[in-house]
Amino acid sequence: MTETIPQPRTEAAADQIEFEAAPESAKPGLLVLAPLRIEANAVRRGLTKSTSHVLHTGMGATRARKSVGKSQQNPFGAMVVMGTAAGLGDDLSPGDLVVASEVSDGETTVALPGADLLAAELRRAGLTARAGRVITVQKLVKSAERVQLAADGYLAADMETAALLGAADGRPVAVIRAVSDGGFGPGMVGGGIAALRSLRKAAPVAEKWAAACRERTVLLAGPRSFCAGVERAIEIVERALEMRGTPVYVRKQIVHNTRVVADLEQRGAVFVDELDEVPDGATVVFSAHGVSPAVRDDASGRGLAVIDATCPLVSKVHAEARRFAKEGYTVALIGHAGHEEVEGTLGEAPSSTVLVQTAADVAELNVADPAKVAYLMQTTLAIDEAADVAGALRDKFPQMRAPGSDDICYATTNRQAAVRAVAAEADLVLVAGSKNSSNSVRLVERSERTGTAAHLIDGATDIDLSWLSGVSVVGLTAGASAPPAVVSEIIAALSGLGTVTVTERVTTTESVQFGLPREVRR
Ligand code: SF4
Repeated sequence: MTETIPQPRTEAAADQIEFEAAPESAKPGLLVLAPLRIEANAVRRGLTKSTSHVLHTGMGATRARKSVGKSQQNPFGAMVVMGTAAGLGDDLSPGDLVVASEVSDGETTVALPGADLLAAELRRAGLTARAGRVITVQKLVKSAERVQLAADGYLAADMETAALLGAADGRPVAVIRAVSDGGFGPGMVGGGIAALRSLRKAAPVAEKWAAACRERTVLLAGPRSFCAGVERAIEIVERALEMRGTPVYVRKQIVHNTRVVADLEQRGAVFVDELDEVPDGATVVFSAHGVSPAVRDDASGRGLAVIDATCPLVSKVHAEARRFAKEGYTVALIGHAGHEEVEGTLGEAPSSTVLVQTAADVAELNVADPAKVAYLMQTTLAIDEAADVAGALRDKFPQMRAPGSDDICYATTNRQAAVRAVAAEADLVLVAGSKNSSNSVRLVERSERTGTAAHLIDGATDIDLSWLSGVSVVGLTAGASAPPAVVSEIIAALSGLGTVTVTERVTTTESVQFGLPREVRR
């Protein structure tokens, strides 16, 4: 599957504003269009690169068009409109920055999909910035109009941006407006010192944004995102909320993803660390990572209504631990200390199970009977690293028993193979997932082992623009607990930096599904 997402066209003024096309050999930089001279000067003071240029366009749409139309500019690769604006929200203060997610002149609206990325970069630079809708008006707005525009969802109003966007002529374009005292023209200067200061500080960030702009290919790893165990766990909480009403308590994060948890929280789920935070008689869901028998006993003793969302593939490892322990084996559990799944598995046979994280742990391992050792694994380990530890165990305990089938689950295996395939072709890999998601972290490590830089991000706003400088091919995947929508959000954000061609590399397809527990069946 290949799909191309072009830059938004800004035809409204393109016929009136002409720029020379950038020659192939040139290193086109940033062009900043600033309506007022003081705005242009503030931006100039902040710029750091010789390839950056500022054009003072004049106040108001007519002057802006005339001024820009007359100029034959240096070649540029990306354009930013920068200036002051009236802030329309009560929560905006002078100096706050609004990055336009769309610009309207009341008739035509142009969407600028990279706004969130740029706003996040401005925040990382210490500025107060947010993405939102900007409207270009014909004349100064009075307070009643401002209230109406704010009610219509606009964050800032100016008098030029809609007329200037066409100058980008298909190149990446962004808009950064600094909130002044709320007025326009010379009257806003006194109250606009903070705004001008913010524009100066925003200038190097605009350069960073321009350096990240280029046409690029996104290689989508397939499979990616939700696995069957995560889909099941989320559906269990959703159904529990529907069938039993709010609140429904969930012990630990249902899956390790901040978006999923925040979404369920909004719908009435209450996430707790331990059962003593759950009122007697309430409904509690155990997370996909599983719990130890001690937690089950505690819940039962408290009379809690338990719904178990433990992934069946984790339950399989628990059953193996119980079986090996019953047969008198010492179980070497390969996994990461402190991970909830590992805690749960260790709890199945605590006196018979030892955790080994590395081959060095194996060297120090002493067991009662070296002829009666078995190993198990956390389901979300890196396949090759886990194999190294298992190999060290086998060298030390040649009669060691293995689990009946692989413990590292199909979803972990498939996502690691898929990310490896895209990492081999990519300049950079982005992995959507939360920091506490083991399988997501493993995808970053898997990419890095192929020699390709990789970053774990919860969403598009975590992308540092400096990662993208010089990057033409981005590999993109998502951990088993990361929602598919995050991948779409990241692609949309990248399309604000230049035309994006999305190609999917599918290494295998998945059809695994797990049934729901009886408590939430309809
Ligand atoms: S990653 Fe594997 S073990 Fe974990 S929930 Fe998904 S399918 Fe189950």
